[in-house]
Amino acid sequence: MNRYRVRLHSGSMTSLTAEETARKTAVVLPAAGVVTVIPRENLRIHTCEAPEMAVYVNSHILETENSLIVVDTQFLRPHAEEFRRYAESLAKPIVRVIITHSHPDHWFGCEYFRDVPIHALAEVADGIVGGGEAMIQGYAPIFSDAITETVTAPEHIIRPGTETIDGVALAYEKVEGAEAGVNLVIELPESRVLLAQDMVYNRVHVFLQQKEMGPWLAHLRRYLEKEHDFVLGGHGLPSNMQALADMAGYLEDAKSALMESNDVESLKKHLVGKYPFYRGEMLLDISGRYLYGG
Ligand SMILES: [Zn+2]
Repeated sequence: MNRYRVRLHSGSMTSLTAEETARKTAVVLPAAGVVTVIPRENLRIHTCEAPEMAVYVNSHILETENSLIVVDTQFLRPHAEEFRRYAESLAKPIVRVIITHSHPDHWFGCEYFRDVPIHALAEVADGIVGGGEAMIQGYAPIFSDAITETVTAPEHIIRPGTETIDGVALAYEKVEGAEAGVNLVIELPESRVLLAQDMVYNRVHVFLQQKEMGPWLAHLRRYLEKEHDFVLGGHGLPSNMQALADMAGYLEDAKSALMESNDVESLKKHLVGKYPFYRGEMLLDISGRYLYGG
C-alpha cells in the first residue's frame, strides 16, 4: 500500500485503568500516538491516532495544496495540543475544523482550535451545545486537568452535499443510528478515500451503547458497495475496504454477544475471546456502563 508511518515520539504506550490514570494524570501522560500519512494526487491525509488511554481516537488533517482541513480534534489536552503542533509543522493555514459527531473524544480538543472556524452538522453542534458541559463534568473526575474546562462548540453548520475546498471535493453524508446518533461521513471521491470516522473502528474494540445494530449494519453494507482505496475510521489505524467488512462482522458478533450477556464481564468474554488481537478492551468497559449501568 502506498503509505508510510511516522512515529512522532518513542513515547511509552502505557496501559492504565481509568483510576490509575486519575492518580497519574497530574504527573505524566503518555506522549502522542502514531501519525500515518497517505499521499494522494492533490492531497495528503495525515491521521493522528491517540494512545490507548484516549481509546486510539483519530484526528485527520486533509492537506490540500494551500491549506489544511482538520477533522476531529482529540480527547485529552496533551494529545490535542500535540495534534495542533503537528498541524502547525505543516506550515499551511488551517482553514477549517470539522467535527464529525458529538462524542467527547472527538471534540474536547477544540479549545486548541478556537482561532479556526469550527463546522459540524446541525444535530452535532446542538449535541455539543446542549450536552457538552455534562460531558466535561463526567470526565473531569477521571482525567483531571487533561480534560477541557470549557465547551468550544461548532458555530458553522454543514449540510449534506458536496463542497470543494482548495480544489478538493468533499462529499458529506449524515449517517444516523450507527455508533453515534448522528455521524458525519466524508467521501473524497477524486482521491477514493472514505473518512468514515466512528462508523468504522479498525481492529479496536467498539463503543456499544445500544443493542440495535440494524441501521449501523445497513450503512456499512451500503458503503461496501462503493470503491475506495482507503477507509479511515474514528479509532484504529487507516485501512481499506476490508475495514468495512470487518466492522460488519464485528457488529454481527456483538449482536449475539449482547443477546447472551447480562453484564460487561460476559460481553468482554465473548468479544475478546473472538477478537483477541483487537486493541482497546477499555472501550467495552465504557460500553458496559451504558448498557448495564454501574
Ligand atoms: Zn469515537
